[in-house]
Amino acid sequence: MDPSGISSVNLSHTWPVGKIKSGFVKFLTRFSLTLKHPVVTAFVSTIIDAGDAEWLRNWTEIINYQWHALICLTIYIRVLSSSIPETIRRAYRKGPVFLRKVSRRLIFQLQQISQREWRCIVKIQEHYARDIFKKYGLPVPDFGLATNPDEARALAKELGTPVVVKAQVLVGGRGKAGGVKLADDIDEARDKAGAILGMDIKGLKVEKVLVAKSVDIDKEYYIGIVLDRDRKQHVVIASPAGGVDIEQVAEETPDKIGKVWIDPKYGLHAYECRKMLFDIGFEQKVALHAAAILQKLYQIVLDHDCSLVEINPLVLSPDGNIWAIDAKINFDDSGLFRHPELRKLKESEDTDPIERDAHSRGLTYVRLEDGNVGIIGNGAGLVMGTMDEVKRFGRDIAKPANFLDIGGGARADSVKNSLEVVLSDPNVKAVLINVFGGITRCDEVARGLNEAIESVKTDIPIFVRLEGTNSVEGREILNGDAFHVIETLDQAAEPIIGYVSEGAVR
Ligand code: GDP
Ligand code: MN
Repeated sequence: MDPSGISSVNLSHTWPVGKIKSGFVKFLTRFSLTLKHPVVTAFVSTIIDAGDAEWLRNWTEIINYQWHALICLTIYIRVLSSSIPETIRRAYRKGPVFLRKVSRRLIFQLQQISQREWRCIVKIQEHYARDIFKKYGLPVPDFGLATNPDEARALAKELGTPVVVKAQVLVGGRGKAGGVKLADDIDEARDKAGAILGMDIKGLKVEKVLVAKSVDIDKEYYIGIVLDRDRKQHVVIASPAGGVDIEQVAEETPDKIGKVWIDPKYGLHAYECRKMLFDIGFEQKVALHAAAILQKLYQIVLDHDCSLVEINPLVLSPDGNIWAIDAKINFDDSGLFRHPELRKLKESEDTDPIERDAHSRGLTYVRLEDGNVGIIGNGAGLVMGTMDEVKRFGRDIAKPANFLDIGGGARADSVKNSLEVVLSDPNVKAVLINVFGGITRCDEVARGLNEAIESVKTDIPIFVRLEGTNSVEGREILNGDAFHVIETLDQAAEPIIGYVSEGAVR
């Protein structure tokens, strides 16, 4: 065990971790691999499944066990409270004694941290957000959607020119990237749509454009409501300097940013907003409108469990009207179970057919480009650790093809679903299953695998490592004809490289 090894961990390599969870999971995973200690691995899996109601109990059990866990805990707390990997690296260099002390002190913060558990942001396209805005009576210019230039032309004709043509991709700053263009007549609308469709904006391909009636702009403002995790409250943010990067405004001219924290006990009151808006220089008429709009935005936040609702810019037109010409809404995925319609929306946005299939089966799956080893594991930490291992031993020949977390329990049907999904990727030439039995028992998983392989007929070699609770029984039960049973991942390295490079079958 060499804690100093951690300081060289590269926190920014290539997995789509943003999609999976956040950077520190990766850090913890590396950490658990470095220690090669089952308790740490279990701990990592446990905290990564922190949404689970049992997580606190498991944690405390593990903490009683070993001080390794305390280090993890410290890191967990530090990361949650700071989100700065550098802080952790620095803490790490000071060594275990320091960490142990800090951990003990920080354990008392557990209660608070428990409220901060994992959250993933669900983003939706602007046109969906506009639909919601409209439903709540916000001033949204008429619009439609087009997937080819002719549709855009027809829409422009229907709406009346001039129009604005806007790329529908899930990133900000489309305007600067050339993804928002004005068109004075219907032919221009067609041409601009043609130019924007297929464009690459920050790595995302534009597949549809929004065509909206253009608004003449006198002045641009920013208003929004975001979740302030530190205060555990939503906060209204506004600025008379809208349209541009709001972060930049906050940095360079902080006096042009106003905030109102919302106490859920009392709700948001229009007068609070008006006062704040006047203070930062909104003209009276605009302030009155904006305050009323903010009330509606807060209702949207409450009704949909939003982590962010934003209008940037809210504009004042020369005729004195106020318009919301951009719309952004993010949801908190912990609240998705209350909003089946949003879950569907999220799924319909999956572009990869295998990902869509996996998500409809309730699996956490992310497909990677140019991988060839299917990865299945339980717990996000262990799965990412396994991916790292394949990347490490693979000598650029064997590469992880996906992330797939079967989650806790790992019943036969989820094991079967997982195998089916992973094998449906034609690039996969070998599969590596890595299960750490904690609450999940390895004998159960083994039965699940045996059942699964009965129905999922395949020639692809499947390597299985079962470790932890009932692993010995698990390995005995496992059908030796169908699976290669391994005890360490390294045992799989050479055979996997062999299979992958030949593209051979078992
Ligand atoms: P974002 O860059 O991705 O945030 O996209 P926006 O929807 O905010 O558009 C960027 C910029 O395009 C805005 O700040 C406006 O200046 C301009 N814009 C967008 N819609 C219109 C419109 O209807 N009329 C005019 N004149 N400008 C617009
Ligand atoms: Mn905008």
